[in-house]
Amino acid sequence: MDADCPFCRIVAGEVPAQILRQTEHVVAFRDINPQAPTHILLVPKEHLRSLEEIGEGHESLLVEMIQAAVQLARADGVDRTGWRLVANTGADAGQSVHHLHFHLLGGRRMAWPPG
Ligand code: AMP
Ligand code: ZN
Repeated sequence: MDADCPFCRIVAGEVPAQILRQTEHVVAFRDINPQAPTHILLVPKEHLRSLEEIGEGHESLLVEMIQAAVQLARADGVDRTGWRLVANTGADAGQSVHHLHFHLLGGRRMAWPPG
């Protein structure tokens, strides 16, 4: 755990969040500043700074994160209308929290390419 990392602090229960699901290695909670009717963040409990730190041994973590996203999309009722899973990685992508997270977005029509 990184004591200065906001998502580590949510994982540790030190900062409140609207937690929707916890699995062995993953926590999902609602984004504090939602950009769509469904805007959920999925984070590994392990502090990884971004996708750049994914390596051998993280295969099952990625599957766990994606399976959790599919289940949460269903639970929020956006599975039939569609949803997007995004991991902003680095400055040009606009990554602002340096703890790996997937954004699960849905519930409105989204544009492509993203801004
Ligand atoms: P990114 O810009 O891809 O790094 O995304 C970071 C996301 O984390 C943003 O959408 C923020 O609104 C969200 N966020 C930051 N702090 C919190 C928090 N304490 N609880 C929930 N979401 C947060
Ligand atoms: Zn962290």
